[in-house]
Amino acid sequence: MNRPRRRPAALFVSDLHIDAAHPAIGERFLEFLARETRDAVALYVLGDLFETWVGDDDPDDAQRTVIAALRDLATRGVPCFVMHGNRDFLLGERFAAASGATLLPDPVLITLHGERALLMHGDALCTGDRAYQRLRATVRDADWQRRFLGLPADARRALAGAARAGSRAHNAALAPAIADVEAASVAAVLRAAGVGTLIHGHTHRPGTHRFDVDGTARTRIVLGDWYDTGSVLRWDEDGFELVRLD
Ligand code: MN
Repeated sequence: MNRPRRRPAALFVSDLHIDAAHPAIGERFLEFLARETRDAVALYVLGDLFETWVGDDDPDDAQRTVIAALRDLATRGVPCFVMHGNRDFLLGERFAAASGATLLPDPVLITLHGERALLMHGDALCTGDRAYQRLRATVRDADWQRRFLGLPADARRALAGAARAGSRAHNAALAPAIADVEAASVAAVLRAAGVGTLIHGHTHRPGTHRFDVDGTARTRIVLGDWYDTGSVLRWDEDGFELVRLD
């Protein structure tokens, strides 16, 4: 992000996976908010801001710090939009009120600099992983969520820990192609939305993919994770640029 060009840009990030056990990631994000959002027109977090989220009543210290920093960003007049990821799909209205962020549905269509783009977390596109899609349907169900959120916080934490361990074992056994998005599902969402650009995260495979659907040129931009360095998409009126933070 050392380029001289500094037009007002929308910034997109995802897959930070912030929690108190990995303080460097939270610090990296705070530094990014302090240094890189001065000329921002908006910040979009496309899921998995947090490593885990078992309810708005139980943030850890790292998460509280990030919520306060997002609140500062909103106070400076930079709107922040947060989409659920597969880790933090329980982010709710209390989180939104505390952070000043607006929760986004997945998928959602935005218009920026006169161009439209479809935003997703990306897990819904990994349709080759049938077991995961079944689990996703279960935990996104309103009744399931109500029952889960009715449990005491330590029970929720214990269940989330077990779910993460199960997910790690499941992912380790997956073929790489199954852990990625499925081309037919990408084509289907672009076709349904009638747009040329899709921005998502989740797969931790940053890159820009250009391809045709129904004879029309399309672009899929994949945001990277924040484990070692930050990954940011800057989108200004000249176009977009996917960058790694130093
Ligand atoms: Mn994810």
